[in-house]
Amino acid sequence: MKIACIGGGPAGLYLGILVKRVAPEHDVVVYERNRPADTFGFGVVFSDATLGHLAAADPETHVQITDRFSRWDAIEVHVGGAVLRSTGHGFCGIERKQLLQILQARAGALGVRVEYEHEVKALAELAGADVIVGCDGVASWVREALREELAPNVDVRPNKFVWLGSTVPYEAFTFLFKETPHGMFRVHAYRYHAEGSTFIVECTHETWRASGLAEADEDTTVAILERIFAAELGGHRLIKNRSIWRSFPTVRCGKWHAGNVVLVGDAAHTAHFSIGSGTKLAMEDSIALRDELLAMRSNRVGPEDVPAALAAYERRRRPEVEALQAAAQASLEWFEGTERYLKMSPVQFTYSLMTRSLRVSHASMVKRDPELAQGVVAELAAATHAPIAAPTQLPFATAQHRVRSRFIAAPLTAWSSSADDLFVALGAAAADGAGVVATPPLRSDTLESDDAAVAWRRIIDYVHSKDALIAARVIMPTPRALERLQFAGFDLVVLDPDGDERAIELLPSAIATARARLGGDWLAAVVDDRRTARAAVVGHAAQLVRAGADLLWVTSIPANALAGDGNARLPAAPLADRLRNELGVATCVEAEDAALSDLDAAIAAGRADLVVVTRMPVSR
Ligand SMILES: Cc1cc2nc3c(=O)[nH]c(=O)nc-3n(C[C@H](O)[C@H](O)[C@H](O)COP(=O)(O)OP(=O)(O)OC[C@H]3O[C@@H](n4cnc5c(N)ncnc54)[C@H](O)[C@@H]3O)c2cc1C
Repeated sequence: MKIACIGGGPAGLYLGILVKRVAPEHDVVVYERNRPADTFGFGVVFSDATLGHLAAADPETHVQITDRFSRWDAIEVHVGGAVLRSTGHGFCGIERKQLLQILQARAGALGVRVEYEHEVKALAELAGADVIVGCDGVASWVREALREELAPNVDVRPNKFVWLGSTVPYEAFTFLFKETPHGMFRVHAYRYHAEGSTFIVECTHETWRASGLAEADEDTTVAILERIFAAELGGHRLIKNRSIWRSFPTVRCGKWHAGNVVLVGDAAHTAHFSIGSGTKLAMEDSIALRDELLAMRSNRVGPEDVPAALAAYERRRRPEVEALQAAAQASLEWFEGTERYLKMSPVQFTYSLMTRSLRVSHASMVKRDPELAQGVVAELAAATHAPIAAPTQLPFATAQHRVRSRFIAAPLTAWSSSADDLFVALGAAAADGAGVVATPPLRSDTLESDDAAVAWRRIIDYVHSKDALIAARVIMPTPRALERLQFAGFDLVVLDPDGDERAIELLPSAIATARARLGGDWLAAVVDDRRTARAAVVGHAAQLVRAGADLLWVTSIPANALAGDGNARLPAAPLADRLRNELGVATCVEAEDAALSDLDAAIAAGRADLVVVTRMPVSR
């Protein structure tokens, strides 16, 4: 089989190595437009799990890589004059140049033909190949050439970042959050050899412009940043290496293969550098592609079966890649909006940072860094003078009420259920420890009769007898329905547009009307997340708060992989987090099937004040 790889980065070289190692009879050519030593960048990181995969795939390269690793276990966070050290986060870093040298040498030794300074400009140039691998990086032209079949989507993010080095040999993975008159800079710094560290500087577009960095060349960038970070660098220098300010592009594709052409690595997908997974994903793609191509060989199939092998590769890799991209999306949004977390205590800020990808649960934080996890819980408990408990078991105080736990239980009952069915469902949730129980979305006309008020009164009295509160979720209520709800004794009224576009538009004025009728009663509005129109959603939510909503009930529209949140563990959490910390309003987040420990993390990190569950979790 003839395999042609366009691009000699980690993905292309590693694929060549893995194929030739097991099937030397295959012809593998890697075309690389640059010279061998032309690489840019400083260090890349791998987790222990990735190293395990590399060890199994090719022990030779694994040994060479780990021989040159710098390892660290702690993360240090510098924020608002405080320095917090969090432990239990095992990572390794290697210089990108060294990694490529290892891969280049190993590829050469195994008989992979690497043609340097050979830029492939058209697929037709590789007409004789059985498989063409597009591993030409984030700006892949292969992806663009096959745009019709592959349906790429490139989401260019607003923050600016630059990849620098520094002579500080940081002992811990270090995050610096540095406020300046022009805005805040975030630094992600980690060691990659004895005398140096990667030093990625990131800021908002506005800060970048206001600081004069938009017009700065590499030397001026270094000079400006050395001035800003003079105290942190303590006399050390910053090092440039093609240190150009960039905007991060998140690449997603509807499909990764077309005919005998397949994308791997950054060409197919990117994950924000704040979760340090780009090289890992590229190399793990190569492992999966090797497996599928070599399975063809053992099954004695011919080149005409290549498309099936490429489809199998995509089927195998896509779920993991999309889950990681969802984590990366949550992480990049955290860094895009870091300013909003500065109001938090340094302890909660650090906890929020550590759990930003939504893949680190509270249980995992307790295991990694018990001091930090207990510190946040102690702060939350002290705020309501409550004894220490799991985050979701802590009380929540509103202007009107004290809610005994952070759970809103919204059992899956239909609005048309009988009064007895609703009594049983809501009563059971109250007896199980919910702080608030919520009705199914109700229509106004079902609330207006005296019989309805009497039936609700019975349920409300029972729920109150169990020390829980009760919320009425109503689809755009009439004034009379609002009056009835108040009269019946509901503690919270939640206005729900039920996904209807017109009702969503009218929601701010409906909230204003409800606020006028309900006086100081507790009032909430449902906000649907639409990641592709996030700015509009935030603007809409701000109107709701101005109109008088005390609480935003955040839901997420069913998964849309190309929008990037399809695989998040708590998909509505990033929006709830943003609204809570940007608008200063309480939020509750719909949890769907999330694990209890992820809900604890959402509360502890200050992403939401309450969590909405359909069933109360089994008590601990
Ligand atoms: C600031 C920053 C920090 C990062 N930090 C990390 C980290 O900590 N950990 C991590 O794992 N990853 C990190 N990454 C990501 C990482 O660098 C990439 O994800 C990884 O290199 C992807 O490998 P690849 O082989 O797919 O692409 P690349 O490494 O980009 O390789 C593509 C190659 O294709 C060549 N090429 C392109 N077009 C052609 C053509 N027409 N003909 C021939 N050759 C061509 C290019 O010259 C290049 O060598 C970071 C990236 C950035 C920007």
